[in-house]
Amino acid sequence: MKTVFTNILEEKATEDAFYVCNLGEIIKKHQEWKTCMPRVKPFYAVKCNDDSKVLETLAGLGTGFDCASKAEISKVIQLGVHPSDIIFANPTKQASHVRAAADAGVRTMTFDNENELHKIKKLHPEARLVVRIRCDAEMAQCQLGMKFGVLVEDAPNLLAVSKELGLNVVGVSFHVGSGCMDPPVFHRAIGAASWLFNVAREFGYSFTLLDIGGGFPGNTGSSIVEIADIVNKSVDEYFPKGCGVEIIAEPGRYYVASAFTLVTQIHSKRDVKATSGETASSKSFMYYINDGVYGSFNCVLYDHAVVHPETLRDITSFDNLYECSVWGPTCDGLDQVCSNVMLPELDMGDWLVFNNMGAYTLVAAGTFNGFPVPRIQYIALKEAWATLREFMDEDKFVADNVPIFMKAGVGCNRDAVGWGLNDVFEHIKNRN
Ligand code: PLP
Repeated sequence: MKTVFTNILEEKATEDAFYVCNLGEIIKKHQEWKTCMPRVKPFYAVKCNDDSKVLETLAGLGTGFDCASKAEISKVIQLGVHPSDIIFANPTKQASHVRAAADAGVRTMTFDNENELHKIKKLHPEARLVVRIRCDAEMAQCQLGMKFGVLVEDAPNLLAVSKELGLNVVGVSFHVGSGCMDPPVFHRAIGAASWLFNVAREFGYSFTLLDIGGGFPGNTGSSIVEIADIVNKSVDEYFPKGCGVEIIAEPGRYYVASAFTLVTQIHSKRDVKATSGETASSKSFMYYINDGVYGSFNCVLYDHAVVHPETLRDITSFDNLYECSVWGPTCDGLDQVCSNVMLPELDMGDWLVFNNMGAYTLVAAGTFNGFPVPRIQYIALKEAWATLREFMDEDKFVADNVPIFMKAGVGCNRDAVGWGLNDVFEHIKNRN
C-alpha cells in the first residue's frame, strides 16, 4: 500500500491530507460475511460511512441498507436500491423523516416506545414495524443501550398498544453495542428475541423478521469468526432453517474500517528539549499534522478510537525512536490525535499514515478553523478484480472491460474507478 500512497503523492503533488479507499477491501469483507454467516443478510449501516462509492460498491454487491434519516434514505434510493432493501433503523424519528420514508416507499422501521407508535400510526400506518429490544454487551467500544431499546420484559406492553392501534409489527431487532467485545451477548440477545416472537403470537402477531443489529468488528476487538460461530449456532437453535423468519443484520464498521487509510502531512514540528539531568534519549517531538479531532480524528472523541500513526518513510532507516505526540491543525488545545507514540525524528513535509480509518470518521468530520476534510482516492487491487469476477458471467465480461488500474494494481483517481466498477455493478444488478 505504501507504494500506492507514494504513487498518488507523485501524481497529485499535494500537501493536503487524503484518504485512500481500497474498494477491494469492502468486496473482501462481503465475501467473508457471506461465508461466515450465510443465513444473515447484511443491511449496511450508512451512518458509519456514507461515501457514495462505498454505497455503490455495496449496492452492487447486493447488500441492503440501514438508514437513520431521510437524507440517508434519499442517498440510497438514488443509487437505485429498492425500498424493500432499506430499514429505517432509528427508533426515534422526526415526523418529516417518517413522512419521507413513506413517500419513498420505505416501510420497514424500528421503534422502542409507545409515543413512537402513535407517531407512526398518524404518519405511516402501513409501516412494517420492528420492535428494538435492549441487550447490552458487557464490553463494547460504544454502548447504545442507555439511549435505545425497550427491556424485553416490557416489550409485550408495546405489542399490546400496537395491536390496539392496528399496526403491523413484523419482528424484533437489537444492537448489542458498537465494537462488541462480548461475543456471547449475541446468544443472549437472539434468545430474548425468540422469547418475544413467542409472546407476540398471544397478541395475534406472526413475526417474520429478526434483525441482529451491528456490533461486528472493524479491525480490532472480537473476531468476526467467533461472533459468527455464536450467531450461527444461536439462530439455528432459536430460528431453525425453514421456520419462515428472515434474518438480517446492520453491520457498519465491519465493512468499512479497514478499507480507508488516511495519509497526513507533518506541517510543523516542535522539539521538546530534554530537561537537565535527563539523557538525550528522553528528547521528544510534537508533530502537527493537517487533520485532527475536528476532522477525521473526531473518532478519537466520539468513537473512543485509539489511532496509531505509521511513517510513510521506511521506519527501519531510522536509528532511534522517541516518545512523541501528534496534534491536529486547529488552534484548540483539545486537538490532540495521539500521545506517547514511538516515532523517529521526522521532518516537516514527512507523511504519517493511519490505517483502519473508514468507520465513524469522515461522516462526522467538519472544517473547524478552515481546515478541509480530506479527499478520497479510490483504488482496487488486482485480487479485488478476481473477486468481482466471481459475481459475473465470464463470457459477458471480456478482458477489455477490466479497468486499467486493476490491471496495473496501483492507485488511480475517482473517475477512472467510476467507469470500470459501474459496469461491473450494472452487470451484477442485472444478474440478480
Ligand atoms: N444499527 C444501528 C441502529 C446503529 O445505531 C449502529 C451504530 O451506531 C449500527 C447499526 C452500526 O453499528 P456497527 O458499526 O457497530 O456495526
